[in-house]
Amino acid sequence: MKNKIFRLSILLFLGLFFLTGLNFSAQKGKLLNYDVLIKNASVFDGSLKPAFKADVAVKDGMIVKVGKSIKGSAAKVINGKGLYVTPGFIDLHTHVDRGMYFAENRACLNYLKQGVTTVIVGQCGSSAWPIFEKAEDLMKVWSGEGIGPHAALLVGHGTVRQIVMGMEEREPTAEELERMKALVKEAMEQGAYGLSTGLIYRPGSFGKTDEVIELVKVIAPYGGIYHSHIRDERDKLLEAVKEAIEISDKSGAPVHISHFKVMGKKNWGLVREACAIIEEARAKGIKVTADQYPYQFSNGYPYRSLIPRSAWQGIEETETEDTRVDTERLTSEDTEAIFNHLRDSQLIELYKKVTPYYPLSERHLQFLNEIPRNRLVRLVSRTLISSGNFRGPGNTKERSMFLARMANPEEAQKIREQIREYIDDITGPENIIVGICVEKNLEGKSLKQVAAMKEKSVEDTAIELELMGARCIPLQMGEEDIEYIMKKDYVGTGSDGTAPPYGIGLTHIRSYSTFLHKIKKYALKRKSVSVSHVIRSQTSLPAKIMNWDDRGWIKNGYKADIVVLDLNNIKTRTSISNPHAYCEGVKYLLINGELVLDGGKWTGKLPGNVIKLKK
Ligand SMILES: [Zn+2]
Repeated sequence: MKNKIFRLSILLFLGLFFLTGLNFSAQKGKLLNYDVLIKNASVFDGSLKPAFKADVAVKDGMIVKVGKSIKGSAAKVINGKGLYVTPGFIDLHTHVDRGMYFAENRACLNYLKQGVTTVIVGQCGSSAWPIFEKAEDLMKVWSGEGIGPHAALLVGHGTVRQIVMGMEEREPTAEELERMKALVKEAMEQGAYGLSTGLIYRPGSFGKTDEVIELVKVIAPYGGIYHSHIRDERDKLLEAVKEAIEISDKSGAPVHISHFKVMGKKNWGLVREACAIIEEARAKGIKVTADQYPYQFSNGYPYRSLIPRSAWQGIEETETEDTRVDTERLTSEDTEAIFNHLRDSQLIELYKKVTPYYPLSERHLQFLNEIPRNRLVRLVSRTLISSGNFRGPGNTKERSMFLARMANPEEAQKIREQIREYIDDITGPENIIVGICVEKNLEGKSLKQVAAMKEKSVEDTAIELELMGARCIPLQMGEEDIEYIMKKDYVGTGSDGTAPPYGIGLTHIRSYSTFLHKIKKYALKRKSVSVSHVIRSQTSLPAKIMNWDDRGWIKNGYKADIVVLDLNNIKTRTSISNPHAYCEGVKYLLINGELVLDGGKWTGKLPGNVIKLKK
């Protein structure tokens, strides 16, 4: 008997030894079933279905199994109990390319923390690569050194126009148009995903409808998409939407309207008619879609002066910097005149000392040597000196000129009237919020509330705030409009944000919290839409808009870009007084099956790919 037990023990020991050995080699990745196994989570798969309980298995960068109680071993097992699995979020509209150009921001941590796994860059008419580079240059660096989220790149109409025509306000000649078309074609050949316009920004705004149609025609045969920052987002919204649809109809490429909204209180409600126009076009078979960010204020730089420039400077509204003869204030022409005294080589040497694009590439140097003299002077002048530095309440000369005018009762009355009209026109004193102010108790209050607290008129309160350097934000979009747009099944999410160095400068809070804010405020709190509706708007819908059939879903055979979200503990910590703050709530984030956030912390990995349009 004892002998038997002894022999059994030996067998057991050998068996254990064998199993341990097996396990050891499995640890090396050979015999494990999966790379990552998420157990017992609730899954929003990208559809409008409510969440369902399932396990999700990942191997070699792909989702290989979704189902109940998946058996097998994995290098990383995530306990998904109480957590929600969704496809990685796809941001249809970001300007992170500017920040991501520099290695420090390549992770785009502010986006990873929101669950974003893919960004579409090169928006609003500005190519994702600087004017002196080609699409392939940026793609090469990003592919080689790695990026946080995947990126798809657009070629910008404004950039192309600037390369060929500078900042000239006129129609292109036939030859210039051909050169612009050639540049768009070159970018598409190199893997760009389409064309973007910024038809309110110079020089994009100088381009007429026909010019844009000709350029969009170039991307159509590639299956490219036209992303449009349309010509007007205020009173002329409807005309601008119609123009975007016309461009799509005549060129044959789908059109995607960026940051769809209407600004200015008097225009609120206009989005309903705009949606009707879009829906009519869609019914005719024209591919029209849009994206939206879920905030009431706009602009990459949302902080707005409370005194109109005309009132601050004492000039007529119709005058612009170009038409005005003004000897008292520094203009860009003045600074260009200074640099015009230098030789080309001296200009280039000065430029080298301040350009952020360091070290200068061959292509960059070649660009500097090839542009006409007047453009070189302008480039160097604007890189070194911004005439904006000499404007506003921080500038002692401007300040004293303004105060001198205020000392004259007649003049002061005129200024007050101008301010009142301006404030009412933007959005009214009840919709202008104090963001950053030395008097901390005013932060977060409306101009109307501050005026009441100070027992002053709105105009005089505006002047006081301006002179103490307060930064205020007008709420230019109506909450009802935001919700109306959000409910549409052709509207995806696009943050319109950037990748700033953490803590540096003022930035819009959308850069830090768009995706989780949309879930928390509009699905969980206000219940304007369902959680699955929001998830779809930032996963499978953007994938469909971009024509991707391997992303945006939690399904077998799809790319393993996955968010594991603590839905009920989302914290968006940004406020307009403190825009730099990372979101909390994304517990785990997978990109290409690699763990990028683990327990909410960045693992230091940069597994994102440049997604190139296949020819
Ligand atoms: Zn834009």
